[in-house]
Amino acid sequence: MAEAAAETFGFQTEAKQLLKLMIHSLYSNREIFLRELISNASDAIDKRRFESLSNAAATMPETPRIRIQADKEAKTLTISDDGIGMTRDEVIANLGTIARSGTAEFLDNLTGDQKQDAALIGQFGVGFYSAFIVADRVAVVTRGAAGDASRWESAGEDEFTIEAAERAEQGTDVILYLRDDALEFAEDYRLRHVVTRYSDHIAVSVEMPAVSPTTDDTDDTEVADDSAGETETSWEAVNSAKALWTRSRSDIKDEEYQEFYKHLSHDFDDALAWSHNRVEGKLEYTSLLYLPKRAPFDLWNREAPKGLKLYVQRVFIMDEAEQFLPLYLRFIKGIVDSNDLPLNVSRELLQEDDRVTTIKNALTKRALTMIGKLAKDDPEAYTAFIEDFGDVLKEGVGEDFANREDIARLLRFYSTRADGDTKDASLETYVERMIEGQESIYYLTAESLTNAKSSPHLEVFRERGIEVLLLTDRIDEWMMGSLTEFDGKPMQDIMRGDLSLPGDPEEKEDSGEGADDALTERIKGVLGDQVEAVRPSKRLKDSPACLVLSDMAMGAQMRRIMEASGQALPESKPIFEYNPDHALLERLAEESDEDRFGELLRILFDQAALADGTVPKDTGAYVQRLNRLLLELLNQ
Ligand code: ADP
Ligand code: MG
Repeated sequence: MAEAAAETFGFQTEAKQLLKLMIHSLYSNREIFLRELISNASDAIDKRRFESLSNAAATMPETPRIRIQADKEAKTLTISDDGIGMTRDEVIANLGTIARSGTAEFLDNLTGDQKQDAALIGQFGVGFYSAFIVADRVAVVTRGAAGDASRWESAGEDEFTIEAAERAEQGTDVILYLRDDALEFAEDYRLRHVVTRYSDHIAVSVEMPAVSPTTDDTDDTEVADDSAGETETSWEAVNSAKALWTRSRSDIKDEEYQEFYKHLSHDFDDALAWSHNRVEGKLEYTSLLYLPKRAPFDLWNREAPKGLKLYVQRVFIMDEAEQFLPLYLRFIKGIVDSNDLPLNVSRELLQEDDRVTTIKNALTKRALTMIGKLAKDDPEAYTAFIEDFGDVLKEGVGEDFANREDIARLLRFYSTRADGDTKDASLETYVERMIEGQESIYYLTAESLTNAKSSPHLEVFRERGIEVLLLTDRIDEWMMGSLTEFDGKPMQDIMRGDLSLPGDPEEKEDSGEGADDALTERIKGVLGDQVEAVRPSKRLKDSPACLVLSDMAMGAQMRRIMEASGQALPESKPIFEYNPDHALLERLAEESDEDRFGELLRILFDQAALADGTVPKDTGAYVQRLNRLLLELLNQ
């Protein structure tokens, strides 16, 4: 053995936290550790195969294997692979730190509630550290393409050690010193069960020592065990060792698709849906796309991993190939296996390749079809899906012109029709529910659902029984900038412009307007250049006044976003609409004291902003006016 003493290192703080959490939260599903370790072994073999394609000095065994061997007496379980292995530095980097971006953020999200945290950690991906669920000590003996072997060892607490070691060939052994309560994982039948359950789809052969036909299955026969140890172990494959996507759809069970999904995505949960297709003809490729159930914690992190796993003629080429799906579908997991791309394809080459563009366009359509199918087949699951991924899909409306209408069809909104507070109105159902004579799709944007529901702008719509979509997400106003129509029907923001509604009387230029004109002029005199215009409203029923945006003006939501990002925006003035039939305005029109008229009108003006969830410009002045009014009231 090596003379150099073992060197001790501390785990990175994040790694430590994650380790602790893992050991405590994943107790009910311990067997997944084996899936993670086999998954790593299979990844390592993929990497070595890829390396051997591009590097003449790199070697690759003809039939690389993953071997699993338990030793009941020593209470160990060893997972060995002929993969790429690791150099000393790589071991320290890969097993001592967590390089993934957003880890700190993820840890901040933990609640301390075991159940919830267990679900969260599933989203994060448990990986190598899951070994500590069943082992109180883990050793990794590994040898990379160059240099000597090293042995990493840790009891999963604060530190690990590294020392020089011996290993005949390139590859890795992960040795688990099983906890006393996890000795079931030294049992042959138990291991076989777990391997077939979780790792059947792995393209590499996973082998275990052959069970000798003479050995009784009720295996307390120590004699048989001993003699088996002395002869050369003969191995047999436990899995089918065929890449799942190369098999025909009808031969693959749902559970197999689900296990493959977990291998790919590091997700703990099942996938919500998948789409597996083989395309033949000018371009030949196979794709398998999955919809996750829940958003990963880093969905909004720009550096988060995204993209598909790329294979060329069944050889693994790269993870996170982003060129095969648009950004707004970044939550889709899966693989694409091309027969046409060269084996030495690089990320840069992918960027420029026409074949990649063709595949991307086709996969985008497949993904949208898969989402649409889920919406149709399982509306309840779809509602949950939209909660998590709806905002990402909305990016597509602005970014993917070719598929705009198809994406819009997938969106769901709050609506004045819905009983509950769920986003379940689609544009299609909206169009079906349009009333006689209605030509536009009406919507309102607001900061929150509460704000939206109490908006004075909805009054006339409620009265006429016209549905309005309530858009409350930050991205909505931006998105609506691109979504000007659906199914040939124009989209109309009800806070903008001059409304004309189905059922409006033909131009009501009646004689009553004269009185309104006088009031309008008086109001203009008070508000002056704070407003673009003043006019009697067709929108209002119960409220005295509201603010309307001119057609070209930027909405309040966009304004807030742009201002928050530090942009200086030109001032935009609202249109002040008043309700001449409202008691407040009727009385106000009778007020002969101009000062008092102005004072009261300014309160109405500020309140019109408040009703839409917008803070008046001079809140101090507003409060003072209101206080003067209250005092007057009390003095009466
Ligand atoms: P992930 O597989 O998601 O990258 P893991 O925690 O499972 O995360 O593994 C961490 C890293 O350790 C891997 O990315 C890989 O670099 C390295 N690793 C783990 N197991 C092996 C192995 N059997 N052979 C080579 N490298 C490995
Ligand atoms: Mg892993």
